Amino acid sequence: MKIIKTSQEPQAVLQPGHLEDINRLSRTPLTEAEVYAFSVRLCDNEVDRDGERFAPRTLEQLAPLFVGKSGIFDHNWSAQGQAARLYRTEVMAEPGRLTQAGDPYCWLKGYAYMVRTPDNQSLIAEIEGGIKKEVSVACSVEKAVCSICGAPRGESCGHKPGEVYDGKLCYISLEEASDAYEFSFVAVPAQPHAGVVKGFSHHWEAACLKELVQGTGATMVIFDNALSPSQQRVLTEELGVTVMDRAARAFEGTHDFRAVRSVGTETRTTVRTVHYFQVSRAGELIECRVCADGFLYNMVRAMTGTIVYAAEGKLSPEDIPAILASGNRTLAGPTVPPGGLYMTKLWYEENVL
Ligand SMILES: [Zn+2]
Repeated sequence: MKIIKTSQEPQAVLQPGHLEDINRLSRTPLTEAEVYAFSVRLCDNEVDRDGERFAPRTLEQLAPLFVGKSGIFDHNWSAQGQAARLYRTEVMAEPGRLTQAGDPYCWLKGYAYMVRTPDNQSLIAEIEGGIKKEVSVACSVEKAVCSICGAPRGESCGHKPGEVYDGKLCYISLEEASDAYEFSFVAVPAQPHAGVVKGFSHHWEAACLKELVQGTGATMVIFDNALSPSQQRVLTEELGVTVMDRAARAFEGTHDFRAVRSVGTETRTTVRTVHYFQVSRAGELIECRVCADGFLYNMVRAMTGTIVYAAEGKLSPEDIPAILASGNRTLAGPTVPPGGLYMTKLWYEENVL
């Protein structure tokens, strides 16, 4: 299960050995002057507002999983692109401090760096100035269990998080960390005294990242480690369009299109030639362009419903020739609503006019 937790207090210094850690993750060796380093309190073992907490052992398991993972904004990869990367983590104890559960308090500290660029100067200033304070983590755990009886969450064991049983606070214990995805600065007012801790404050340009970004025209750079859930969603959307386009092209050519028409209008023949049927994304819109020597009743809407089914995995683009050959309307996708369907151009053979 995926877990998102929020805590505060980033803080930072580039300590001896840290530049080496950073350069293990960097494509090009960086100098101290090229990086801005800071530390964040990723998560702790305190019971949170949801009545959940990471077991201390879970924090130990999360520590190595977070190394190399990125820091972003509001768990959204597309919002402002990648901001920072964790190069070192460690579980910290706070002697004398106890959690609500009554055991020693501990927390997972993350050390992150950014390559200084003209574009992220304002972000660095916000971290320095304490505006970017609250940090949230996304990770996954195998188990979420009742602290009183060990029953998996969701099984009605009768214990309620927040209640006390025989002097013991009931909470949901998050255990067996399986993955860590990212940390994120979140736009939630932090508690007093929380904040990103100071790091380096040189001002200059980071040639390597700048060149990388400008040289490729990239608007976002994805490091080649595990993808975060939000990255996967973005990629899935792109893949959806790719699948739709592949499905659409299966309709091209001269075929009997009985399988993708609505009955109601008699025609001499149901054979048509589709010159092209292409799908692409334009921002938030998915554009479908289809050109044919004629269309049967609702044919474009049924073909579109069919390629949507392909994107949804309900059929494969490779199934489409057989669907057309069957002539069976029930094998193809639904007739989609007409909104957004436009006739853009008409051609006539000269001898018809
Ligand atoms: Zn229980």
